[in-house]
Amino acid sequence: MNKIYLDNQATTPLDPAVLDAMMPYLTHKFGNAASRSHAFGWEAEEAVDIAREQVANLISATPQEIIFTSGATESINLALKGSAKTESIKKHIITFKTEHKAVLDICEFLENSGFEVTYLPVNSDGLIDLDKLKLAIREDTFLVSVLHANNEIGVIQPIAEIGEICKNNNLIFHIDAAQSVGKIPIDVEKMNIHLLSFSAHKIYGPKGCGALYLRRKNPRIELTAIIHGGGHEKGFRSGTLAVHNIVGLGKACEISRELMDDESIQISLLRDKLLNGLKSEIPNLRINGSMDNRLAGNLNVCFPSTKSDSIMMSMRDIALSSGSACTSASIQPSHVLKALGLNKEQSHASIRFGIGRFNTETEIEYTIEKVVKTVNRFRKVAV
Ligand SMILES: *Cc1c(COP(=O)(O)O)cnc(C)c1O
Repeated sequence: MNKIYLDNQATTPLDPAVLDAMMPYLTHKFGNAASRSHAFGWEAEEAVDIAREQVANLISATPQEIIFTSGATESINLALKGSAKTESIKKHIITFKTEHKAVLDICEFLENSGFEVTYLPVNSDGLIDLDKLKLAIREDTFLVSVLHANNEIGVIQPIAEIGEICKNNNLIFHIDAAQSVGKIPIDVEKMNIHLLSFSAHKIYGPKGCGALYLRRKNPRIELTAIIHGGGHEKGFRSGTLAVHNIVGLGKACEISRELMDDESIQISLLRDKLLNGLKSEIPNLRINGSMDNRLAGNLNVCFPSTKSDSIMMSMRDIALSSGSACTSASIQPSHVLKALGLNKEQSHASIRFGIGRFNTETEIEYTIEKVVKTVNRFRKVAV
């Protein structure tokens, strides 16, 4: 058996069709999109324009509202720091305990720069309590940032409802959509979204590329740039555009838009097969996070009285993750699982399975067999 990749929330393999689209821009179409005086530049600029449209189409935005960045982390930096820098009076931001570290670390930075941040708890299923959000809004609140689909537990927040609350209270509404773009429908108009961040490499595109959606009307959101030098991207993000990556991002968005409906059904069938297979052979396993409001490709399971690291070490041919990939270098229990009420032991006994576009039924069957065998072996030792 070859290696099996089941860590699609950490990153996704490049879709071969995306690579094909990128290749010319890594070879003979090498122009700088900002070169206005010759055909090499025009060719690059045209490719970027097409990509901008493909990205906008996926989230019902207009191309003028798309800013290309190096990825979700940079987009979130621009969205949050850029809004904070623009805001002259108000000082209060609302976000949640289960956010990605990108948001949490930026909020901490802003706290050190004189802003106040409320980190709201979530319910034990990972969902936001809308009443708590309404109660947390203060006179000086200007921004709400919400993780659309959680990278660890896949839980999907009610973005349209939150958007409505933000609209009624004149708050800027940012969503971290790194896990949701291309996987579930997003409509920035219907959901009242003002700012939206995501990365290409979570949707089978290249690493080091992403976008920020910035609403330009109803209402027009103002942002202060954080990277200066040349005025690219309407001055919001200077620096020569990575045309090959941007072309890849555009293509990845186009493909996701086309496949989304069928793919989420196909992936949720694989996910259900995996869950049922594990459930039938492993007593009292526990699912972390809501099963009803969840990304098709995510399963996060606690195998009580085991250690996820030891389990994963004994199945090196299957790529999985314990907690969030971004914190897997440290042995801290996941802040997300902690926010759901899991204790240290439960957190260290949890494994994330991330199913994606290129996984097969055979891979899932092999994974069930191997996980069942390994977990039950470790449990016998533990008892
Ligand atoms: C991956 C991810 C990010 C960061 O994306 P980068 O590509 O590493 O910048 C932010 N938020 C969520 C939810 C993610 O899954």
